Amino acid sequence: MKERLGDFPAFLASYEEPPKKGLRVNTLKISPEEFVRRSPFPLSPVEGTSCGFYVSEEKPGADVWHFAGLYYLQEPSAMTVGETAKDCPKNRVLDLCAAPGGKTTHLAAEMGGEGILIANEIDPARARALSQNVERMGITNCAVTCAPPEKLAEQFPAYFDLVLVDAPCSGEGMFKKEPNAIPEWSEENVARCALRQREILEEAAKTVSSGGRLLYSTCTFAEEEDEWQIEAFLCRHSEFTLLRLNKLYPHEFCGEGHFCALLEKKGIASPPPAERGDASSCLLTSGVGSSSCPFAVGEGAFSCPPPASGGGVGEGVRPRSSIKPYPVRRNALANRAFSSFREEVGLPVEGEITTLPDGRMYLVPAGMPDVGVRLLRLGVELGEWDGKLFKPAHALAMAFGGKAKRKLSLSREESEKYLRGETLQTSLANGWCVVCAEEFPLGFGKCVNGSVKNHLPKGLRKIK
Ligand code: SAM
Repeated sequence: MKERLGDFPAFLASYEEPPKKGLRVNTLKISPEEFVRRSPFPLSPVEGTSCGFYVSEEKPGADVWHFAGLYYLQEPSAMTVGETAKDCPKNRVLDLCAAPGGKTTHLAAEMGGEGILIANEIDPARARALSQNVERMGITNCAVTCAPPEKLAEQFPAYFDLVLVDAPCSGEGMFKKEPNAIPEWSEENVARCALRQREILEEAAKTVSSGGRLLYSTCTFAEEEDEWQIEAFLCRHSEFTLLRLNKLYPHEFCGEGHFCALLEKKGIASPPPAERGDASSCLLTSGVGSSSCPFAVGEGAFSCPPPASGGGVGEGVRPRSSIKPYPVRRNALANRAFSSFREEVGLPVEGEITTLPDGRMYLVPAGMPDVGVRLLRLGVELGEWDGKLFKPAHALAMAFGGKAKRKLSLSREESEKYLRGETLQTSLANGWCVVCAEEFPLGFGKCVNGSVKNHLPKGLRKIK
């Protein structure tokens, strides 16, 4: 670093300062202007971003608005990755190394519910955290998968118009936030990381469509993992060109540092899904599935059947005609139960609904292909029908609850009680309602004779 940097003393001195904390406003739920106006703590803008802010609050993750998904805590320089993606086509997006979801949630906010987003994480425990963040932020157009990059490359050849590789790295930009990264650093580890990144990039490149973009980023300063990695990739892949390269150092930017390179694959970019009528190639649409369909894999996860070769839009996309329909009568009853819940709460949920053999119901975004790998989340989970009753899923409240007619608007103090799992009092008539911190959904509640039964999932409750 001494040889490379003009102002090495300033770089070194930056490590004496406390780590910079940031949050990114979730524009799917609130505008940055409105958030700033009503923010529970002081904010100052992160340069070069439209929705990033520095925050000095001790525990911004403990605030009710965090539970409501109004913001994501993100290291300020990491926000530049999503900002770089701003001008890229985003009809079909893959975030290949996505957990815990900083960049996924940024991309989703930029997509504004349009197009399809596949957020993949190889590590199952981290994939669960990613899935929870996708839920909390109310994202509707995302599938969360858990697979190695080569599986996705196999399933999605030349499919995405934007692929993000936020690669596992030696983490030199994490030394302040995670001091454990310091003893783990070694020249050998940098070389190991560089090799792994090269392998991931090779698989990622296969998934980029003609005219599509590949965005590569790390939170390290090692050239082997950054500039040299990109240089070597471009030597191996003459079909890619470099559009932009950005390296942020902690003494030049008010953040811990990040590297980011944007590449483009030669060719003509594909038109947006609406023009191609992709919705008809969606695997999981209303009434699709069968009792022999092996969806249930592990706790809270399901997996799609293996892909048929070719078919649909682009290689590897399974045509819906190849799936046995879910029993018509049972499906009609499940849909009716959901419709009556939707009417009761006044939820504006439109679109095709998929009921899995175990009764779980999903709203799958139009154009979502058969992902063909282990899935943790597909669009929005609406709830579960047990043959008699419909039980709403938390994801439904987080994604659509803001527009519900039956809302219970709570003060901050009351919201804290709800988040702790307590029962509340209400003057609302009996029935289901969306419980909100002011107007922002926290989850469901059921009003019974003046009390609100708390339906916030136990695992998401706030521990004192
Ligand atoms: N993009 C994330 C965010 O913004 O929150 C951070 C991603 S982190 C830098 C890199 C991720 O890559 C980790 O979650 C790690 O589990 C995953 N990873 C590790 N080895 C991998 C491999 N061989 N292939 C794909 N992903 C891998």
